[in-house]
Formats: sequence, structure tokens, C-alpha cells
Amino acid sequence: MSRIRILPEILSNKIAAGEVVERPASVVKELIENSLDAGSTRIVVEVEKGGRSLIRVSDNGSGMSRDDALLSIERYATSKLYSDSDLFAIDTLGFRGEALPSIASVSKLTLVTREEAAECGTEIVLEGGKLLKVLETGSPIGTQVTVKHLFFNTPVRQKFLKTIPTEMGHISDVISNMALGWPKIHFKLIHNGSILQNWSAAADPASRITDILGKDFGSGLFPVKTDFHEKIENDGVSLSGWMSLPRITRATSQGIFVFVNGRMVRSRMVQHALIQAYGGRLMKGQFPLAVLFITVPCDQVDVNVHPSKQEIRFSRQQDIYDAIVAAVSAGLSHEEKPSWTPSKPQGPTAISEEPVRAEKKYPYIIPASDNRAPATVADLKSDRASASAQTPDPPVPFRPLRPKDQPQLWETPQSVNLNPIGQFFDSYIICESGENLILLDQHAAHERILYEKLADKSVERRIPIQRLLIPETLDIGYRQALILEKLIPDLCQYGFEIELFGKDSFVIKSVPMILSGREIKPLVIEMVDRIMETGLTANLEKSLDACLKLMACHGAIRANQSLTLAEMATVIKDLEACRIPAHCPHGRPTWIQWPRQEIERLFKRT
Ligand code: ADP
Ligand code: MG
Repeated sequence: MSRIRILPEILSNKIAAGEVVERPASVVKELIENSLDAGSTRIVVEVEKGGRSLIRVSDNGSGMSRDDALLSIERYATSKLYSDSDLFAIDTLGFRGEALPSIASVSKLTLVTREEAAECGTEIVLEGGKLLKVLETGSPIGTQVTVKHLFFNTPVRQKFLKTIPTEMGHISDVISNMALGWPKIHFKLIHNGSILQNWSAAADPASRITDILGKDFGSGLFPVKTDFHEKIENDGVSLSGWMSLPRITRATSQGIFVFVNGRMVRSRMVQHALIQAYGGRLMKGQFPLAVLFITVPCDQVDVNVHPSKQEIRFSRQQDIYDAIVAAVSAGLSHEEKPSWTPSKPQGPTAISEEPVRAEKKYPYIIPASDNRAPATVADLKSDRASASAQTPDPPVPFRPLRPKDQPQLWETPQSVNLNPIGQFFDSYIICESGENLILLDQHAAHERILYEKLADKSVERRIPIQRLLIPETLDIGYRQALILEKLIPDLCQYGFEIELFGKDSFVIKSVPMILSGREIKPLVIEMVDRIMETGLTANLEKSLDACLKLMACHGAIRANQSLTLAEMATVIKDLEACRIPAHCPHGRPTWIQWPRQEIERLFKRT
């Protein structure tokens, strides 16, 4: 007897659901994509208990006939793709014909839909993928899909669901991203009966950006468009969107939103291009903010490379790369032109007298793995580091001690007796200590000092506080606001007084003294962004520790800051009192040394 059998359809749908339906937010994403594909202008998402008990997406799109509705829940049934060639020219968000049957196989699904031409609607009820009822029903034009008790028949999956706030966070991310990419569509999100978001059709996409990402994100953005580059436009590729001025940056890539033909994607290539376009204007490790819409002829982009369709492949990577670099740098130089330049008629050539072209070619060979493009910040950083590491370092005659040798020196701080004699580049404190010449990295050293002061758990610890004369207001995105709100009590212990002030807005009233005179908003935003990357609930301890490191970093003496000898001596004294003086909180060495012998050898004295 043969041992190989074809799986029953319900089972194969359940297996497909494993890929397509990871959590409630994936259901929301698939259903919204269907609504958008159906030409809806208004999409309402209702959720109960973080999507565990109910997800309902209602739209005013084209709706379906009774026959189509019945087909839509069959595997591989789609109205978006009929032939091989269509697969390589997809202009809809969906195309696999898998979402509805997959979702239906792991939930209790009800579909109510009506086409304009039809007199009444159709209602279809399924449970665990099994068709229970089909009836005629009264219905407005459009479609409503209700998904109840997700994963009721796959207990293992159910166990993997996170807390309601976490699942809600993912759902609201999905909706914010969709709403950002589709500013003309009205989106509404209701959780347990109360309206969480209500974004009516935006008159201009910029106002949608402020609606979703907050006013602090929206200010300081400049427009980017391809008008300046006719050639690119003629190829059918166009680009539009907003980017931040170089002074407004983030420490993570969380502020970069890229839409290709309406689909939000994570693309390392695009991130590279954006950073490249800023040239030397961005500090190392900093990322711009961006909301970028790229339109590419559908036959030049392959969206069929990942089950959740978040990744894509361009057939002309290099051209797209160049187009992005060109458009963004043109936009940037336009912004940076002094305002007294006589104004010229705006048009395709207004900027081209100052040609800004992508000089450097797309700096890395596209490896096969780039198809799974989601770049982590670390990836991107290492890529950039390797790109800038092309010029070999000059030979170093000095041989500093290896970092692992360093802590010994500090085990008996008294015996070290560092004596500051000056500063090198206003960044390193030069010291002599017995028979050694020592360079202290003033920023790294001070970071260590502040970090240990903040992290001190002893009872007698007191963190001095600075009240701000003028409280600062902070207006951030919904998801970030959720995180910050949760962080408030913990940050309070470190000297922050932050209060919720209306929807997604906060006031910062006081800060730890070590941060007095520093810019506070960028720090708070960076703390929240970092936590967004890892997730707050995952590990609160770790998240807070990351916050302390950031506070220390923002509060510490900078490089290029000149210090008096007395100030240098204080840094040295405080560093000697630290538990781990030899390294900054990020693990970099705080100092390096050269023994006198070594120096004399180099001068050929010995
Ligand atoms: P896909 O989107 O990949 O085609 P789905 O399983 O998500 O596959 O949907 C199957 C089909 O059902 C779609 O091709 C479309 O014709 C129809 N459909 C699904 N949702 C809607 C909707 N909200 N409005 C109109 N038609 C829909
Ligand atoms: Mg679909």
C-alpha cells in the first residue's frame, strides 16, 4: 500500500495558516489588504480582547456575488491572478488566494458581502474551515469578515499568543502602517467597543504622517519627489514622500517607512540608498526619518518572495537605488539652498543646475540572502562600517595593551595614581601614571561614571533632579506612546517627571540633573525606539538597563569638549571609584596605555 497521501483540504489550509496567520495582527493585515484590493475607501477594524475573541473588518469596497463569495474561501481561489504572466505583474496586495481559507481553517469565520448590482447580500458561516451555512442576507455594499475565536482548534498556537496589550500593539502597528501608506482611505480601529484610532481620508499625505507618527515626527520633514529627474519618471519609476532634515535623526531605523506600490516593505537596499543620499550629513549610526512611496511598474518587482509579502525583489535594483539617492539628495540640496537665492520658476529643471547624482554605485553585491531583506540596525551598522572601512588604517607603531589586560590596573586604583597633564583633540585626557603614559577616552569614561551612578541600587542613593523651567511637550506615535506610558513609573525613579497630556502627548517636567542642559526629546524618543525594537514586555529589566545606558550616553561629557585640569581630575577620581572602570557601559575600553619602556624603544633609546 502506498504510504504517501494527499492531505485533505482542511488540513492543508491549516498548514498554510501556519505561515499566513501568525497572530491576530496577521489576520488584520490580510483582511485590510483584501479591502484595499477591493477598492474600499473606508475600512473599519473592530477587535475584542486583542483579537483573541473577535476581529471584524468591514469595508465599502466592491463586494462579492454569492458565487464569488463561495469561491473566495476555497484554497487558491483568487480574482487577482489568472495566468503565469500575471504572477510577475501583480498590482494588488493579495494574489495567493490563501488568506481567507487559511484564516477560516483556524477560526469561526463569517463573511457577509454584497455587490452593488445585487439586491441582497450573502452570508457564509464557517467553523474550522468547514462550511456551516450559506444564506441571503441584508447587507450594505461591501464586505464584512468576522473572525471569532482565532486558533480555537489549534491550542498550541493559542498558547503562543501574547498579552492583550502586546497583540493590540501589533494590530495597531499594522493599521498605522497601512494608514500611512494609504492616506486617502478612512481607517478606524475599535477595541472592546472604544475607538482607538479614527483617521479620516487625509487631504494631503503629510497630514496623515502627523496623525500617525506624531507632530514631533512631522516637523522638520522635507518633500522628496522624482519630478527633478525626467529620465527616471519615463522609466515608469516614481518616488515621492518625506524625509527628515539631517539635524533630525534617530538612532534606529524605526522611523523609516517604505511603500512599494502601496505595500509596506523592509528593504535593506532602500535603507542603504537613503543613508547614501545624506552623504556625510548623517552622523555615524544615525538614521533619517522617512516616509517614502515608490511606484515601480508591476512587472519590475517580484512580490512573491515571502509568505507575508513584506519583502520584495526589484528587477532593476541598481536603477531604483540610483533613483532614490538622486531624488533624496536633490530634495536635500533644495532644502539647504539659502533662502535668498533668487527664486526660479519651479519645474523639472529648477534643481538640475546643481546636479546631484548617485556617484557611488550600490555599495554591496546583492547576496541571495538580501531577498529576505529585513535589516536589523546591527546589520545596517556593520554594513556601513565595512563600507567606510575601505581605506586601510595606517600602521600603528604603538602597541596598546589588549583590553583584557586593562582591568588589572584598576583593581588597585590607589596605586594607579593617574595624573592628568592635558587633553588630546579635546577628546582624550592625557595622563601619566608611574612609568606609563595613559589616554582616557573622556566620553567613554564619563559614560561609565554616570551609568554606575544611575544604576546604583543602594538605599542612600539619591539622583539629583533638575526641574525644567519650561516643560517640554512631546507628541509621538500611538505605539510609542503606549511604551512611554508604561515606562513612566520606572523613569520616575531615575529623575524623570513625565506626564501623559492628551492623546499620544506627554509633558516632561523634570529630568535627572546629569541631563541638565541637554536636549531631552531626542533622548526620550531614542529610549522608546530602542524598546520598540526589542519589545518592552519581553524583558523590562533589560529595557531599563538600555535606558540607563542611553541616559549616561546623552549626559556624558562629549568628545571635542575642552576640560580644565580640575575637571579632568574629577573624571579620573570618579572613574577610579567605579565598579568596572575599564569599560564604558557598551563595552568599549575607557583607556589605553603605553609603558615608558615601549616609548623609549620606539625612540631607539634602549
Ligand atoms: P487573495 O487576496 O490572495 O486573492 P484571499 O483569500 O485573501 O486571496 O481572497 C480571495 C478572493 O476573495 C480575492 O481574490 C477577492 O476576489 C475576494 N475577496 C476577499 N476579500 C474581499 C473583500 N473585502 N472585498 C471584495 N472581495 C474580496
Ligand atoms: Mg488577500
